[in-house]
Amino acid sequence: MSILVLGGAGYIGSHMVDRLIENGTDTVVVDNLVTGHRAAINSQAKFYQGDVRDADFLNHVFDQESIEAVVHFAAFSIVPESMAKPLKYFDNNTGGMITLLEVMQAHDVKQIVFSSTAATYGTPKQIPIKETDPQLPINPYGASKLMMEQIMHWADVAYGVKFVALRYFNVAGAKPDGSIGEDHGPETHLVPIILQVAQGKRDELKIFGDDYQTPDGTNVRDYVHVLDLADAHILALKYLAAGHDSNAFNLGSSTGFSNKQMLMAAREVTGQPIPATLAARRPGDPDSLVAASDKARDVLGWQPQYDDVKEIIKTAWAWTQAHPNGYDDRH
Ligand code: NAD
Ligand code: UDP
Repeated sequence: MSILVLGGAGYIGSHMVDRLIENGTDTVVVDNLVTGHRAAINSQAKFYQGDVRDADFLNHVFDQESIEAVVHFAAFSIVPESMAKPLKYFDNNTGGMITLLEVMQAHDVKQIVFSSTAATYGTPKQIPIKETDPQLPINPYGASKLMMEQIMHWADVAYGVKFVALRYFNVAGAKPDGSIGEDHGPETHLVPIILQVAQGKRDELKIFGDDYQTPDGTNVRDYVHVLDLADAHILALKYLAAGHDSNAFNLGSSTGFSNKQMLMAAREVTGQPIPATLAARRPGDPDSLVAASDKARDVLGWQPQYDDVKEIIKTAWAWTQAHPNGYDDRH
């Protein structure tokens, strides 16, 4: 029996695939490489290139392989792009989930671990955010992911498909040996952008707004290491395999760092000056997003290894230095 990883050529998916292979798990990857990289997939995984929304293709994969459970990373995830092109997000993210659940149902596969997001909460009324807090997204990306959670819920009610929705906060870092890491094009995430400035590939960091309701005026976010995240997925697969009910968990460190604090930490880790200027607010950014993540610790037994944001940045810097042009596969 194999674990099917959808989006396994992407940033987080490739770390998950690597972890599964390290654990000796038979792993099948589906990815259309729209944002992912062939070179990011561990060579011991079996790879099918295709689109999750293509039912014929997906049925073929499920016919060929003996799939025990699915881990679903395949999605678009850039908030500002989703504000400009909402239908692209509902088509790929929400539409993809419907096709996937239909194919899973046809093949009697009943377990799915899903990449959800802090963006489903919108602007929180209280910090830290608990799983039971209202989910009121303020951008189409968050709305598309909330709809995916709701679709899984109703598929559970009707067909007994059991799911774990993992609501990630800000994912950062890389495998510490620098062999795989984050390579989005265009890059929009704070940590890789700061490191591109440290590398000399960008002139400066633009800090999007310093008039938020936070101690230093810049947004506060909760950073979690990509390998700690992968471990939580493995625990979620075990949780489902043990026959537990569908559930949702926040994945964060429970500690918030402001954008200015992240910049200072990166200056310390890299030893580079990293120039920064103030820019206008980015649409769709809530003041602070910090997770209450004790539920994942208590129920799944999750024990994140990285509790220091500098250690997280250090692993991202190791990847950046080993691969100054990322996977170098863009033409
Ligand atoms: P990514 O873009 O690096 O990875 C997504 C992968 O899915 C890519 O390899 C892409 O080619 C593939 N893909 C997309 N649409 C597909 C489709 N229709 N068919 C087949 N493959 C498809 O993104 P990431 O940063 O690794 O994020 C992975 C997941 O985690 C996403 O679902 C995202 O919403 C979620 N998430 C990410 C973060 C973060 O901080 N990076 C935070 C919260 C949630
Ligand atoms: N950010 C920034 N400059 C950049 C990129 C990001 O100031 O060039 C800020 C962004 O406004 C947010 C934080 O960094 O406050 C984290 O943004 P990111 O896109 O990494 O993750 P998000 O919180 O949107 O999931």
